[in-house]
Amino acid sequence: MIKCYNFDIVCQEIPDQITLAFNISGCPNRCLGCHSPWLWKDEGVPLDEHFLSLLIDKYSSGITCICFMGGDQAPEQVNSLAAFVREKFPHLKIAWYSGFDDIHKAITISNFDFIKVGPYIAEKGGLRSATTNQKFYFVEKDGSLTQYHFPPKNG
Ligand code: SF4
Repeated sequence: MIKCYNFDIVCQEIPDQITLAFNISGCPNRCLGCHSPWLWKDEGVPLDEHFLSLLIDKYSSGITCICFMGGDQAPEQVNSLAAFVREKFPHLKIAWYSGFDDIHKAITISNFDFIKVGPYIAEKGGLRSATTNQKFYFVEKDGSLTQYHFPPKNG
């Protein structure tokens, strides 16, 4: 079972959304220059349907989206939790930040509204860098993907 190291309400990670973001521990990617190495250990609260429901109910009035930050060690679990949120909280958008190069085959695309892929490579920078290797997609209603480019940090 994937675990939630901590969570936060964020406004920058998903365009035009107020997002309850779950930081998932046990990250297997080991990116050089990782911004969150504390997420490498398998620590935290099991991220299951009960925990998700508790947190979503608690913050429901102030959020428009939930985001799974990580979970590459078990993409099928991320997919299954996203399906649960889709069914139980249909008013919420659903996002996944993954370090895979591409969208994993265990993912049902219709369970998500936004997907970010790509490991962090320090010299290429993150999503707001012009040279980034990372990609952020909007999932359209017909299942197609539209790439979104974040504006540069100081631009
Ligand atoms: S995917 Fe994110 S948390 Fe995992 S090693 Fe890379 S930068 Fe760190």
